[in-house]
Amino acid sequence: MSTEIVTDIGIVGGGPGGLTLARLLTRRGIPATVYERDAGPDARLQGGTLDLHLETGQRALREAGLTEAFRRHARPEGQDLLLLDHTGTLLYREDTPDPEPGDAPPPRPEIDRTDLRALLLGSLPPGTVRWAHTLQRATPTPTGGWQLHFADGGTAEHRVLIGAEGARSRLRPLLTPVEPHHLGVNTVEGMIPAVDRTHPELAAAVGRGSYWVIGDGRSVAAQRCSDGRVLVHLSFHGPADWLTTCGIPFDRPAEARPALLELFADWTPTCRALIAACEGELTPRPLNALPVGLRWPHRPGLTLLGDAAHLMPPVGNGANAAMRDALELADALTAHPADPGTALRAYEDEMFARTAEVAAESDRVMRLIHSPAGARGVAAFFNGEDAADG
Ligand SMILES: Cc1cc2nc3c(=O)[nH]c(=O)nc-3n(C[C@H](O)[C@H](O)[C@H](O)COP(=O)(O)OP(=O)(O)OC[C@H]3O[C@@H](n4cnc5c(N)ncnc54)[C@H](O)[C@@H]3O)c2cc1C
Repeated sequence: MSTEIVTDIGIVGGGPGGLTLARLLTRRGIPATVYERDAGPDARLQGGTLDLHLETGQRALREAGLTEAFRRHARPEGQDLLLLDHTGTLLYREDTPDPEPGDAPPPRPEIDRTDLRALLLGSLPPGTVRWAHTLQRATPTPTGGWQLHFADGGTAEHRVLIGAEGARSRLRPLLTPVEPHHLGVNTVEGMIPAVDRTHPELAAAVGRGSYWVIGDGRSVAAQRCSDGRVLVHLSFHGPADWLTTCGIPFDRPAEARPALLELFADWTPTCRALIAACEGELTPRPLNALPVGLRWPHRPGLTLLGDAAHLMPPVGNGANAAMRDALELADALTAHPADPGTALRAYEDEMFARTAEVAAESDRVMRLIHSPAGARGVAAFFNGEDAADG
């Protein structure tokens, strides 16, 4: 296949970060092309919900002219939270007030990943996203650009290349040899479909938002999505190989569920019922992160954003940071249209400093969740008390 030169700016990865960047750039008259591994917009379930914060995710959507579209899908009530310890003692509760006319925008409303992706995709000029384009590698060209090599043998060339392809970025090794490390935590994700109809008692327990139980190196978190599904996340303190050495056949959910229930034998009946009610696949996942404060020397025409740049523990900041990255990068490219070197340098300086702080906070919260202080430590954190890292 021959090389295709599509636009000056190539973005690899159509997640929240890559799509937000594409929207911001195209809205400002800077064409960009997104290469996405998925075969199409509906090729896979996008997972659960994200809370978007005022100064990061929501700010990027505001600048992208998508606030109204966001409000149509946003669920402020999805912030409701019950936090318990594994004996069932309620330690923290958040009930989101129903919005009144004239209220300030809610600070962290939830949106389903599927809805966020759909609203970003719908805002892009047709053809911006090239589906089924899995990047394998990129090589510098003699003219100072980058050639992309895709899994199907195709290639493309761009003057500026942005890696927004998440935790397992193929472009990151061109900038730094540093790889994500295991956080000492593994998770298993399950799903209860149509909870109001299939398990009304669990629907009542989870309510409009999340039901989260933490105890002794494990946790159960159940979160309602807009379509009535509840995603159930189990997490386990343990080494990276635990998912393969624990003997639980995650690829055979009917056998795996009873084995998981044994690990929660002394937990509240609601936790056990949530696990038992999961239907379909169970997805095991080791949790990894890049080192807090990772930086790399500037390289002309190439940078990263989102998880590719600063994968952090999943405690509610990653997508927000990715979308704020997109905004900062779009601003820099708009300010220096003829000088991408200066634009990328300015973006990286700001991004390194900003995300180091967010990553440090995410790391602290993750340690707290899995510390001896457990649920009490997290409740103290939510209450603004100075919880010890334990
Ligand atoms: C269980 C869980 C809950 C979370 N909850 C929250 C939350 O509430 N709030 C929050 O802010 N963050 C949350 N996060 C973190 C958040 O999901 C990520 O930080 C965010 O999705 C990062 O966005 P991104 O665009 O950088 O990358 P991604 O979302 O990973 O998107 C990368 C895209 O690139 C594509 N891709 C990958 N490789 C290639 C390739 N080689 N070629 C082409 N395309 C490729 C992928 O298909 C994908 O579409 C959570 C994470 C987890 C695991």
